[in-house]
Amino acid sequence: MGEFELIDRYFSQLGAQRADVVQGVGDDAALLAVPPGQQLVTCVDTLVAGHHFPHDSHADDIGWRALAVNLSDLAAMGATPAWAMLALTMPDVDEEWLEGFAAGFGALAMQHGVALVGGDTTRGPLSISVSLLGLLPTGTALRRSGARPGDLIYVTGWPGDAAAGLALLQGRLQGHGADRGALEFKFRRPEPRVAFGSRLRGIASSCIDVSDGLAADLGRLVAASGVGAVLRAAELPLSRALYALAGEARARDFALGGGDDYELLYTVAPGARQQMFQLAASAGAPACHCIGEVVAGRGVRVLGERGELPIPRGWDHFHA
Ligand code: ADP
Ligand code: MG
Repeated sequence: MGEFELIDRYFSQLGAQRADVVQGVGDDAALLAVPPGQQLVTCVDTLVAGHHFPHDSHADDIGWRALAVNLSDLAAMGATPAWAMLALTMPDVDEEWLEGFAAGFGALAMQHGVALVGGDTTRGPLSISVSLLGLLPTGTALRRSGARPGDLIYVTGWPGDAAAGLALLQGRLQGHGADRGALEFKFRRPEPRVAFGSRLRGIASSCIDVSDGLAADLGRLVAASGVGAVLRAAELPLSRALYALAGEARARDFALGGGDDYELLYTVAPGARQQMFQLAASAGAPACHCIGEVVAGRGVRVLGERGELPIPRGWDHFHA
């Protein structure tokens, strides 16, 4: 199969059909209609086989992940995703793989109303780069830099589950049955908090998505805001499955240092607490837990019952 046939068969109609796509796949570039009063929000993330997912991952999980990691970035800005571009580098044309990849990517794109509007296809070691474009009302984006001393720190979902799922897949953690299945699924199929992120506009003072580990990403948020953070270890949400397979101390290390959560970590000023309660209690909201407080100063500290706890290092590609 040639390049054009491949693009036509797998990528020319992938995801949602949108009226604002003036020209999608097929011309030299895509042409998109940005509504007046809206800002364009863009991000790009590359997945390299063996680094961002195990070599033996299913193609549909890879397709899902390639879009999910970008959806999570837009969620953290409070944006609504609209259009995606896909730069795909692969060693050969494997139709079964392409079928699976397009199915995983397409299923998540449909869920979020995202149209694939263009891309590039080349030969080489497997690597997938997705660029995602979204919209939000001008001036309403959630930033990392808005946290102030006294703000409460919240996280969605159950951080650490995905990292434990990867550890199970790689044999660094042992376990069986439903708990194992649940954690592995959290790694294989992250559910970015897109709808919730857009509802945090006007409520959260700052926001970041947790991709490299809760403590490391909180460190970035407080650095951007020029403040510090104190977390209470006892308030960290640990899922029952994580607790059962890893035990309390290791579960906490997964929650603080493990990556791949794609949850939202955000701060709320005391005055917006009531709105936050209402949002958290509304239909479809993910679990939200208050895990600490923004303080004057810098850096992240984690307080346990007997004083400060060491913080496991987050994920950094260029760390020696
Ligand atoms: P050009 O040589 O003009 O850059 P290409 O042959 O790279 O054109 O691509 C032809 C069309 O197919 C373009 O509209 C491009 O955006 C689209 N395209 C190429 N690869 C992909 C892909 N992997 N996914 C989606 N669209 C793609
Ligand atoms: Mg091209």
